[in-house]
Amino acid sequence: METIGHYIGGQAHAGTGPRQADVFNPALGEPCARVALASRADVAAAVAAAAAAFPAWAATPPLARARVLFNYLQLCRLHTDDFAALVVREHGKTFADAQGEVARGIEVVEFAVGIPQLLKGEFTDQVARGIDAWSMRQPLGVVAGITPFNFPVMVPMWMFPIAIACGNTFVLKPSERDPSPALLHARLLHQAGLPDGVFNVVQGDREAVDALLEHPDVEALSFVGSTPVAEYIHARGTAAGKRVQALGGAKNHLVVMPDADMDMAIDALVGAAYGSAGERCMAISVAVAVGDAGDALVARLAERTAALKIGDGMAEGAEMGPVVTEAAKQRIERLIGEGVEQGATLVVDGRGYTVPGRENGFFVGGTLFDHVRPDMSIYREEIFGPVLCVVRLPDIGSALELVNGNEYGNGVALFTRDGGTAREFVRQVEAGMVGVNVPLPVPMAFNSFGGWKRSLFGDHHAYGPEGVRFYTRHKAVMQRWPNTAGRGVEFAFPHTT
Ligand code: NAD
Repeated sequence: METIGHYIGGQAHAGTGPRQADVFNPALGEPCARVALASRADVAAAVAAAAAAFPAWAATPPLARARVLFNYLQLCRLHTDDFAALVVREHGKTFADAQGEVARGIEVVEFAVGIPQLLKGEFTDQVARGIDAWSMRQPLGVVAGITPFNFPVMVPMWMFPIAIACGNTFVLKPSERDPSPALLHARLLHQAGLPDGVFNVVQGDREAVDALLEHPDVEALSFVGSTPVAEYIHARGTAAGKRVQALGGAKNHLVVMPDADMDMAIDALVGAAYGSAGERCMAISVAVAVGDAGDALVARLAERTAALKIGDGMAEGAEMGPVVTEAAKQRIERLIGEGVEQGATLVVDGRGYTVPGRENGFFVGGTLFDHVRPDMSIYREEIFGPVLCVVRLPDIGSALELVNGNEYGNGVALFTRDGGTAREFVRQVEAGMVGVNVPLPVPMAFNSFGGWKRSLFGDHHAYGPEGVRFYTRHKAVMQRWPNTAGRGVEFAFPHTT
């Protein structure tokens, strides 16, 4: 069976440690490869390669760096289906969904190729007599990315295209569940002309993450994953003096007002709750039915949930694939059981779902709960599976209170026809990304992505202008020349006269 290794200093690298893990094809429920789990020595080798490549890459003109990314952009377009096939094999989502993921990643490269413009500083002539001042942004050095299983192509692309464009060198530690796309990124970047050592991949688990957190030459860490790990990485990374952005988990609500376009709201809920089997940090997992919206909503959602086409991600017409592991399936089914025990109404039960010909696959059927209360574990926990909880509330005020009282604040959506209600909701809701009649308000590459509250630890959102700020340091410069008028020795604090 194939063993998926590391990529260090422009070379495939088998790794020095004995530790390995199985990589599963979730639709078949059986291993499709093994992955090497990096030792501390492997991480040190990757950081050393990145540190050695940094001076020359940082000195490369931004336009020349952008040209490499232009080549890579073209290669990503050509290899979209190769990326997507790897995602289906190791993650399980449908091929069309995986193609969408690649497309959203490519958008970040399209943003990053504008780096000469994005890195332009500000210049002020004559801040004092004979003195000019300007600001510039410079790269940090070696930066690392630690990414989750659920977007193995796109989430790394939230990070490294911008980091590299800014002149940093990069070490990626992808999820050990679906490690292959990271190596395709490495291959295409190499083909695009990226110098060796600028982009490195270490496969692995907590040992590799801890080695990155402790390494003195890692200047910054970008993390995307679950909240407990995000909090851990932020705390340890910042204590070690590193710059850290750590994006965590979510519990996203979609509020349906009685005046909403119900067809639109139902289509939105079905796609956003069950797309990618609910394994998206922007998935809608709570529908808040306001006033009398609940009855019509639940009856129609029940029909649609029961009719979902579930199968192998490569199967023609599949709307939803399996979840990522047997452990994930068991956890989701346990939470469904807890919902029943705690008194929610189970309208559609996805437990025990099997797909003919894929009997060992990690499938969970679409699941719908009604009359969910905020004290239930299905409301409080991020289920990360195809489970939609309907909470019924009397008015928009109580809906806002519910959303704002939730520990997470990633995405939220409101469906209504009333502009005034929408405006107030947008202003008052405590979440980083808000959709009005848009269920998954995932910002474009030229904006930035990030949540509030326990969905993000750190000061910067991901990609877009926030990404450029995260991966650079600001420097302020003042300059004068001997042939401009000097004022001799000055003991007062400098000021303009
Ligand atoms: P995870 O936290 O288990 O793993 C993420 C990364 O951290 C992986 O690379 C993993 O190897 C590593 N890791 C896992 N446990 C660790 C530990 N104890 N110490 C150090 N490193 C560890 O997350 P996941 O299951 O791969 O991904 C799903 C989670 O990611 C969900 O909570 C989802 O909401 C979240 N997510 C958030 C966003 C966002 O933008 N906010 C985007 C995608 C996914």
